[in-house]
Amino acid sequence: MSDLRTETSEAFSAVFGGPATALWSAPGRVNLIGEHTDYNEGYVLPFAIDRRTFAAIRPRTDGMARVASSFADEAVQLPLAELAPEALGGWSAYPLGVAWALREATSGRAQEAGFDLFVHSDVPIGAGLSSSAAIESAVAMALDDLWDAGLDRRSLARVGQLAENKAVGAPTGIMDQSASLLGEADAAVFLDCRTLNAEVIPLGFDAAGLVLLVMDTGVSHSHATGGYAARRASCEAGARALGVEALRDVSVGDLSRARDLLDDETFRRVRHVVTEDQRVLDTVRTLHERGPLAIGDLLDASHRSMRDDFEISVPELDLAVETALSAGALGARMTGGGFGGAAIALVPVDLVSQVEFAVDGAFLEHGYTAPTTFPVRASAGARREG
Ligand code: ADP
Ligand code: MG
Repeated sequence: MSDLRTETSEAFSAVFGGPATALWSAPGRVNLIGEHTDYNEGYVLPFAIDRRTFAAIRPRTDGMARVASSFADEAVQLPLAELAPEALGGWSAYPLGVAWALREATSGRAQEAGFDLFVHSDVPIGAGLSSSAAIESAVAMALDDLWDAGLDRRSLARVGQLAENKAVGAPTGIMDQSASLLGEADAAVFLDCRTLNAEVIPLGFDAAGLVLLVMDTGVSHSHATGGYAARRASCEAGARALGVEALRDVSVGDLSRARDLLDDETFRRVRHVVTEDQRVLDTVRTLHERGPLAIGDLLDASHRSMRDDFEISVPELDLAVETALSAGALGARMTGGGFGGAAIALVPVDLVSQVEFAVDGAFLEHGYTAPTTFPVRASAGARREG
């Protein structure tokens, strides 16, 4: 039987000749709740999913770093001595950027050696499930071991983030790498984006017969980047006007004062972030006290807040959410930066095909391209596979 593990090992041998010495994997992630809270120093609750990126590795003695992927046509190679953010580009900036970032994080103390690396994955790329964190985390684990660097998983999450920020050039936070590295089966990672404190929170989806259905609308709007920047600017303006360092420092009880001090639009942006932080805390408490069947309303409220206050939804996302709810989902919301992308729905496992069918039908009826839907389960974080 062929699986990703053997496919990766076989492809490594085919490309580089001879077997790899180690095989690692790391998962993609989905964010259960906590949207646009990260850069406001608030809370997020992602989990690692059952889609993984595998990295097979073998040391080299000539100081070359060679990387190949089933996703890319050609292998890329560079002498380790020449690793620098400016020297990197394209897909190989992810794995080679991690090598550079690991060197930075260890101040050159690691026993750096050249390597051959092959990457293979079933995390969909660009579907909001963070294939980028999956490749960074798998490579970070593989190189940390090969170079005997001895970094813990929290430090490796920062290595992944450094690679993405500096080598790839994407100004992302540390949520995705934290989920990919710290995730556990049937559990989420509750991350405080100010202190970077991370806590594993049991979800209990398996026992309750629940899965999370991802509904990727395939919609991507040209103003997504501008819209994201505008929302960040509103949040910063709101925090300044309220005299706090970040919106994390505003509580739901402070909102009536905020309404008097802010213009209507800024107030609604602030209200989304402040109530979303509270919803993450409420979700963690509800999971603990009442279990996963009770969190649906919090997901629904998160969607309404993004649609009406933060104004980052689109008709396709609203339709996916509403249809999933009518077809039996316990809760649903858009996820990610907004202006397109995916929605998620918490669905009893025996209703999954019913919900998928209903969402497909509704999209057809509205003349929208059918979404790509797939259930995900909360799974183990990065690990050694061989
Ligand atoms: P996502 O939402 O999936 O994280 P990103 O744009 O952040 O989307 O990252 C996707 C990019 O990461 C790809 O375009 C590619 O450069 C790189 N990448 C992800 N997975 C792989 C892989 N298995 N092999 C090679 N490159 C990959
Ligand atoms: Mg990404």
